[in-house]
Amino acid sequence: KGILLPQDETLSEMIDQSSGSGSGLPLLVQRTIAKQIQLVKSIGKGRYGEVYKAKWRGENVAVKIFLTTEEASWFRFIAADIKGTGSWTQLFLITDYHDNGSLYDYLTENTFDHHDMLLISHSIACGLSHLHTEIFGTRGKPAIAHRDIKTKNILVKRDGSCCLADLGLAVKYVSETNEVDVAPNTRQGTKRYMAPEVLDESINMYSFDAYKQGDMYSFGLCLWEVARRTAIGEQGIPYQDLVPSDPSFDDMKMVVCDAKIRPQIPHRWGQDDVVTKVMMECWSGNPAARLTALRVKKTLSKLHEILEATEKIERLKAIQP
Ligand code: ADP
Ligand code: MG
Ligand code: MG
Repeated sequence: KGILLPQDETLSEMIDQSSGSGSGLPLLVQRTIAKQIQLVKSIGKGRYGEVYKAKWRGENVAVKIFLTTEEASWFRFIAADIKGTGSWTQLFLITDYHDNGSLYDYLTENTFDHHDMLLISHSIACGLSHLHTEIFGTRGKPAIAHRDIKTKNILVKRDGSCCLADLGLAVKYVSETNEVDVAPNTRQGTKRYMAPEVLDESINMYSFDAYKQGDMYSFGLCLWEVARRTAIGEQGIPYQDLVPSDPSFDDMKMVVCDAKIRPQIPHRWGQDDVVTKVMMECWSGNPAARLTALRVKKTLSKLHEILEATEKIERLKAIQP
């Protein structure tokens, strides 16, 4: 729903009030209301809109501008009051600006140790678990599946933790009717990150669980990207040696469904490393066998605790004579 900007609140305060979660949910406003926003530079251009770094009352914000006429799906989110204003309306989607940019860019520009890797992976799992879970009550939220999880749609916060972005293809689960609120359009998303059942169209498109399982497959690939960069200092995108850039459905289907190939785990990682196990269980060819986001979140939390404890012991040993 479109939200009017009140006079003197910071963006964070407003986001807290509107989303009730403090999770950085975006504000959607009309161009006419958004006159106080100064666009600084374009940081991303997609098919349906463009993302800018912008200034709003001295704060950096990110603004995604849509032309409502260009993406029908937006009408599902937009209040009726915006529709009547003419043949087209520009919509501003305002969110916190993250200087580190997307996880994809962050992986290109930095190297990581085990700690950084866990922080990134765990925070993505937390975000996905929150998204997938229905929360009841006045400050509740529906269960949502993302359907376009990839490192370019994950943003990195100042502290090195991540948050999910670009919910343009997301679908909502309506628990009262046990239905998914989307017209069944199956092969949506980024082909390279598409789960096998999406590629070969065997997915049950009326099942919300199926979309969540699809997210977990894509998450597994993201985890591999992060782990690979950490372990061998090299950035890679999934299936880069097997399919061309901008692969077709058939390119992907041959590799992922027919040959059942998955990204390579170099020996150096160790096949029984916990993170390796997690990613392999996420990209299983059997959607029902994949880990849930909540399961991954718990496993990575534990791993983080163990790492912290081990480091503490090491530090103590170091000061002991
Ligand atoms: P699209 O639907 O066109 O892919 P996204 O929402 O994914 O749009 O944004 C495109 C790119 O813009 C992202 O991959 C990221 O690099 C950058 N971007 C988006 N939102 C932000 C933000 N809040 N802070 C910093 N960079 C962002
Ligand atoms: Mg995107
Ligand atoms: Mg998008």
